[in-house]
Amino acid sequence: MSEPLKTRLATDLIHAGRIRTNLEENGEALFLTSGFTYESAEMAESVFANQADHYQYSRFANPTVTMLQDCLAKIDGAEACRATATGMAAVHAAVMCGIKAGDRVVASRALFGSCHWIISTLLPQYGIESVFVDGGDLEGWKAALSQPAALVLLESPSNPMLDIVDLRAVSALAHEAGAIVVVDNVFATPLLQKPLELGADVVVYSATKHMDGQGRVLGGAVLSSKKWIEEVFQPFFRNTGPSISPFNAWVILKGLETMQLRVKAQSENAEVVARFLEGHPKIQRALYPTLDSFKQRELAMSQMSGGGTLVAFELKGSKAEAFRMMNAFRIITISNNLGDTKSLATHPATTTHMKIGPGERAKLGITDGTIRLSVGLEDARDLIEDLTQALDQV
Ligand SMILES: *Cc1c(COP(=O)(O)O)cnc(C)c1O
Repeated sequence: MSEPLKTRLATDLIHAGRIRTNLEENGEALFLTSGFTYESAEMAESVFANQADHYQYSRFANPTVTMLQDCLAKIDGAEACRATATGMAAVHAAVMCGIKAGDRVVASRALFGSCHWIISTLLPQYGIESVFVDGGDLEGWKAALSQPAALVLLESPSNPMLDIVDLRAVSALAHEAGAIVVVDNVFATPLLQKPLELGADVVVYSATKHMDGQGRVLGGAVLSSKKWIEEVFQPFFRNTGPSISPFNAWVILKGLETMQLRVKAQSENAEVVARFLEGHPKIQRALYPTLDSFKQRELAMSQMSGGGTLVAFELKGSKAEAFRMMNAFRIITISNNLGDTKSLATHPATTTHMKIGPGERAKLGITDGTIRLSVGLEDARDLIEDLTQALDQV
């Protein structure tokens, strides 16, 4: 046998993990089956005794899902991956599978709304203490991790204000405290940031975002070492059933083939949009990791290879002005999804971040004039024209 070729990202997105049946199909097969059969009762017995390699039931494993998992593991540099039904199923399972009553969990405050709910509301119901810190405040992390902890959950860049957490420093502090580090890497994507290389132990994704990236299906993924996935995650996953549909896995697998092209082009558009917004007289401030004005630019660029597809900005004005601008968009659409080929605008204060209340929003820097833009694949000139005409109406 010859050594496997050392291939690069663009190649891996198209070839890694792919398997062919003996029918030699080119497009990946969609194994839309809930279960698998055994040629004999003895065969079934040996499969359940883990003595034979054979698919059993799609809640545990499915060949189309395996292709997605193996491709994601390759591009993230992880030993193992499990795909889940949604990003939240991935976060929930990754957090819950290894902690128990009496444990402490430390998290960055700027989390995706449902992740915040799991830490702040769900965990305490099971006797797990949760502590929030400001993601950019290393002293805050030091203080919170000066006591033993079981798990750290963080998001960088964060939603929607693109706060950056120092992944290397926080991972080191967490490990000293005895915690594993789980990073929600949705905003950066595996193309722009590799948390496992920076010290994290587990990476979670919403595959709904850039991996599908075309607004079709929900999905998620959990990546880590083979040992953690098999010993800690798999029993929880197999017995609680957050599994992805093979159909959705197949759609996401096809999405991965173009993800690098999409994320690259969308990130270029996002930077153009951010620079335009920053210079506009009706804009108070624009946030994008590669802008000179971005406070954490240096840290961002030390752990990310690009700025990503999201831009946040604050209008001079309040809710009325923000709504007027959003209602005036003719190309950009109002939606709370992100990482899509279509440019999408969200008003966090009245949608994704409504439930956390004004006090928590103020801590995160979200004002009533803040708009989050997920920049799509349209021609950047058309996006600038759309933003210009919308701002004219404010
Ligand atoms: C969307 C998102 C999630 C949740 O993913 P779903 O697929 O919607 O369940 C978690 N974290 C971040 C940062 C997200 O953007």
